Amino acid sequence: MSNEVESFLDTIKQPEYTGKNRCIPCTAVNVVIAAILSVVIAIGFIELAIVFFLLSLVIIYVRGYLIPGTPELTKRYLPDRIHRHFDQHPAEDEYLDPDEFKTVQKVKYQRENKVDPEEYLLEAGVIQFDFELDDIRLTEYFVERLDHHTDEIDPESIGEEDVAALFDADIEDVTDAERDYPAYTVDFRVRKWPSPTAFINDLAGERVMHEFTDDWLTVPVEQRAKMRETFRYLREFCPACGGEIMLTEETVDSCCGTWEVIAIKCSVCDEHFVELDPTQVGESPKGHGLTPD
Ligand SMILES: [Zn+2]
Repeated sequence: MSNEVESFLDTIKQPEYTGKNRCIPCTAVNVVIAAILSVVIAIGFIELAIVFFLLSLVIIYVRGYLIPGTPELTKRYLPDRIHRHFDQHPAEDEYLDPDEFKTVQKVKYQRENKVDPEEYLLEAGVIQFDFELDDIRLTEYFVERLDHHTDEIDPESIGEEDVAALFDADIEDVTDAERDYPAYTVDFRVRKWPSPTAFINDLAGERVMHEFTDDWLTVPVEQRAKMRETFRYLREFCPACGGEIMLTEETVDSCCGTWEVIAIKCSVCDEHFVELDPTQVGESPKGHGLTPD
């Protein structure tokens, strides 16, 4: 092949559909399509049919397919069974990009370093068992320190770096999701809070845990998030207005319909602290206790 032809082929080459990424079913489907079209053309112009067929093969070779859209179509319509038969991918790890690798490492870390949340918080002096309530509650000292940190947070100055710290993320992986409630995209996942008060409570919760433990950051990030939610869940009085926090069931309207939520909210200023989907907590959710997984 002359250099010109080679460099021309290189420019139209689609590495995502050729080489080790070639989709064998797509290639087969396209060769069959090329053959059928060639036969149709051959009825009138045999030479043209031959040229067309050869040209089709070259295109399929360098681009992976002839008819635009077939990779998507086969992906969608070809039974998985056939796909599995053709997909002779090498060991999965080779396909991981750095981000996926990070995720796998994270999951592994979370599995290996899991703590028993109740035990951990009891030991740290965050919660205590209340025999009168027959349930756990936040210790008075913890609530005092939590309130102290809450007061120190200026809602106007909350930024991406605060959210990044909550989820061990890099600041460049955090963006404001710009919703009506506090929400940020963190590493491609949207983290959201039912109200600004709930959000600030979590920021304060993260800070206060450094006072109560010296290994808070070794606790897996998702468990830390769950525990911060627990601090909201177990609050008895609203840090914003002092009103009593209650468990209510209410109907919420959103873009996609209306549904029931279980809301733990302030009986005075109506700020929501936790919102739960009743179908996930069962028939009678407890007002207290650790939030369900
Ligand atoms: Zn309130």
